Amino acid sequence: MPELPDVEYFKFYFKRTSLHKKIENVTCESKELLQNIDFEKFKKKLVGTQFQTATRRGKFLIIRVKELEEKLLLHFAMTGSLHYVKQGAEKEDEDRFTRLTFQFKNNYELRWRNMRKLGKIYLLENLQKIDLLNEMGPEPLDISKDEFMELIDSHPRQMIKSFLMSQSNLAGIGNVYSDEILYRAKIHPRTKIKNLSAKDKSKLHEKMQKVLRDAIEVMEKKDWNFSPDKWIIPHRHEDDNCPRYKSHKLVSKKVAGRTAIFCPKCQKFE
Ligand SMILES: [Zn+2]
Repeated sequence: MPELPDVEYFKFYFKRTSLHKKIENVTCESKELLQNIDFEKFKKKLVGTQFQTATRRGKFLIIRVKELEEKLLLHFAMTGSLHYVKQGAEKEDEDRFTRLTFQFKNNYELRWRNMRKLGKIYLLENLQKIDLLNEMGPEPLDISKDEFMELIDSHPRQMIKSFLMSQSNLAGIGNVYSDEILYRAKIHPRTKIKNLSAKDKSKLHEKMQKVLRDAIEVMEKKDWNFSPDKWIIPHRHEDDNCPRYKSHKLVSKKVAGRTAIFCPKCQKFE
């Protein structure tokens, strides 16, 4: 499920594969995912032009198109990925969930895959028309320690895991990375913010930025191979062991409606 590091990786992938290539055709297998424009208009605007650059905000990939005021936005929601291949190339299993395809003049195509159809596609000039973007909190990699302290202290009654996952607090962190951040900071996911010490909060800021930066690096350089000795990401199964101490068992519990994975020995509830 794409979160900040995943979408950052998709941005990297998109820039490496799909910029400055003439778009010859667009197909959309799930037109209902188009949010503010009908498919015929969407296609007419994009065919003949090319993608110029891409940025990320939260879980949105924002793409600038040459000679177009409108930007193309892809929101990945719970599932999704990009796949750049030669046109007519044999389909991988996940290509069954391709919802949008851009065919380029060089005989390659970019497939946007979105299994659960919760993703969204926009083509629009004014990004402020998107509530999800308007209400989004700061980028966790850009927020200073002082700003973070102020933000976290303004939500004393929230559980720390809910706080981290709320897009209006911080942009782009979801279930998987909130677990990883809390594990590294040794904080139980159900801890109320008012019960955290200044030291905990400072550590949280530091670990949040470290986890997100390291994850982006693992995706880009190591092809998503998260070391099981360091990360709990590869241990999201029942009865798996804590990467720090093999004798600790990880547990999963519902927190804020999501399944949190944590080590009850490393992350004591206070
Ligand atoms: Zn442990």
